[in-house]
Amino acid sequence: MRNPNPMRGRNFLMTPGPSNIPDRVLAAMHRPAVDLVDADFVALTDSCFDDLAKVFRTKGRVFLYASNGHGAWEASLANLIAEGDLVLAPSTGMFSWAWGQLAGDLGAKVEELEGDWRRGFDADQIEQRLREDPDHRIKAVLAVQTDTATSVTSDIAAVRRALDACGHPALLMADVVASLGTVDFRMDDWGVDVAIAGSQKGLMTPPGLAFTAVSARALEQSRTAGIRRGYWDWERRMNDEEFYMKFFGTPPEHLIWGLREALDMLFEEGLETAFARHRRLAAAVHAAVDVWGRAGALELNAVHPAERATSVTTIRVAEGIDSNRLRLLARDELDVSLGYGLGPLDGKAFRIGHMGWINEPMVLGALGAVEMAMQACGVPYRKGGLTAAVDSLAEARFAEARRQDAA
Ligand SMILES: *Cc1c(COP(=O)(O)O)cnc(C)c1O
Repeated sequence: MRNPNPMRGRNFLMTPGPSNIPDRVLAAMHRPAVDLVDADFVALTDSCFDDLAKVFRTKGRVFLYASNGHGAWEASLANLIAEGDLVLAPSTGMFSWAWGQLAGDLGAKVEELEGDWRRGFDADQIEQRLREDPDHRIKAVLAVQTDTATSVTSDIAAVRRALDACGHPALLMADVVASLGTVDFRMDDWGVDVAIAGSQKGLMTPPGLAFTAVSARALEQSRTAGIRRGYWDWERRMNDEEFYMKFFGTPPEHLIWGLREALDMLFEEGLETAFARHRRLAAAVHAAVDVWGRAGALELNAVHPAERATSVTTIRVAEGIDSNRLRLLARDELDVSLGYGLGPLDGKAFRIGHMGWINEPMVLGALGAVEMAMQACGVPYRKGGLTAAVDSLAEARFAEARRQDAA
């Protein structure tokens, strides 16, 4: 559909990655390139390595790649998983599936643990499978914290408990691409061996940077494990003498300036405050969908409230409704970009991203546009979703202060 009205005002980028880039981050990048071993730039880059470790909450080593999240997936596998190694991939959605697929592409044997894509993975099921592996053939468990396709958040610490309960030495790898900076993640406390993330979701930075955070144990194993790996190799990148090798070539300077600014913003806000903001915004989206859904045409994909992601919400539509029609109308008529349903959810779900640089009015604007799009597409919904979102946000943000004033 061609919109005869020229778009005016801000585009609302409500996709679950890339997410909105703060003006401050854009401004920090607006500068000429520098000599690739410029002393100030090297110092600034080193500060990014240190501060990323704080965001991952690890004393382990962080590696930065000029790549997207898929690159970080490959890095985690290439450094630790050899051809023929067995890996366990508990299924939570399209992203857990795709990480497993990539492991298969690299020659690993991949065993998917079945899931219904509406719940987090089941740690008991994982433990059960580990117990059936007395010879320790399983080399790693690939655990996705927030699966962006299904907006289900799983309990990463529970995988560590499952591994420890049966004394299984498999590595715990966690994909936190869609969750880092939006919800609690404690790499060291939770015994995660490798965590992978990207720049363009909760971290408010343009796409193109990816990170792996690696425990001492995983780093040690990587010396003898894995496949031939060139670009992804951790050992080569640990070259503290030669800065150029930290990126295995030219560093992506502008993305690093952007990342520096975004990390400053994250620390100014405080990680806990950022998590609370994400919880508030997610709760408002859930409240709206809950009311809209009372007409029977839509519902939250994540079944258990405690497993609903703080960074993205997947909304299923009833049989006979085309979620893509609604999404395209919102995009082409209202300039609001929503996420589409991935894989088997194509046409059956749409997604609202609410991660990174985002606040209450942005979420309310997006919800208003969704409601307009539902009207335009004739999707039956109960009125009052937007009011429920306003109430939820006002309560979370102001009710406590009001009660204190009254006291
Ligand atoms: C986005 C995403 C990825 C892949 O990242 P790309 O940058 O698109 O390659 C992997 N895992 C999760 C959970 C994601 O949300």
